Amino acid sequence: MRRAWLSVVLFSAIGGCFTTSSAQEFLYNGDNGPAFWAELRPGWSACAGTGSDARQSPIDIRHARVDSRLKRLELRTYATPIDLINNGHSIEQQYEGTGSDIFFEGHLYDLTQFHFHTISEHTIQGRQGSMEMHAVFSEESTGNKLVIGTLFTVGKRQNPFLQALIDAGLPEKDGDATASGTVIDLSNGLTNTSAYYTYPGSLTTPPCSENVTWVILEQPAKMSSTQFEAFRRLLGNDFRPLQDLNGREVRATKWIEDDEDDD
Ligand SMILES: [Zn+2]
Repeated sequence: MRRAWLSVVLFSAIGGCFTTSSAQEFLYNGDNGPAFWAELRPGWSACAGTGSDARQSPIDIRHARVDSRLKRLELRTYATPIDLINNGHSIEQQYEGTGSDIFFEGHLYDLTQFHFHTISEHTIQGRQGSMEMHAVFSEESTGNKLVIGTLFTVGKRQNPFLQALIDAGLPEKDGDATASGTVIDLSNGLTNTSAYYTYPGSLTTPPCSENVTWVILEQPAKMSSTQFEAFRRLLGNDFRPLQDLNGREVRATKWIEDDEDDD
């Protein structure tokens, strides 16, 4: 009883989704799986995605409209020490006041954290990545989010950005943390920031708030099979199923056809 009360307080205080709460309120299978998230808590009703104007995430990205106003992302990042936590849902790099930010369509968002899903949540023309990284930015005045999604595919080469995290020691269990003197720069984990899709959506974890501008990079990043296993072993299946587009428009940069495959 005491424990349950404590998690309620934690969740109201921190606000759900991308939190560092170590409680297991939602899962990716069984009775607490994605189909039942909306029923787990009153504040999570958006997760049902049943309204005619629901704008839930993730989605399959296709039929994007090229919008020539979309330019290379105005992203400013700074290298900071590795500071990972296993929050029971994902492995997350935490930020506080790093000065890293993104300016997008008239709004400034500060980098708050990045985390991982295996396998990918978004799909691009039906193709699913082996992993997806979500870099979460937040607008101070509104709390609205912008999330950059990068899909990963498994190839021969090691990804140096992921390897720095693996070498620091991925936190094994719910509540574990890893701090390291090694510095990382989010921009090294991203691919071409001139080619992307964008659409209005939601957090992919409860409370599934529909205040997220999604930016999905067109070009997947590469990782080795050993690196994939290092994440997969800890994350298992932490991806939400695809949601209905519900008439939303997906826009794309005009460079989208450029294939810069460097593998
Ligand atoms: Zn995520």
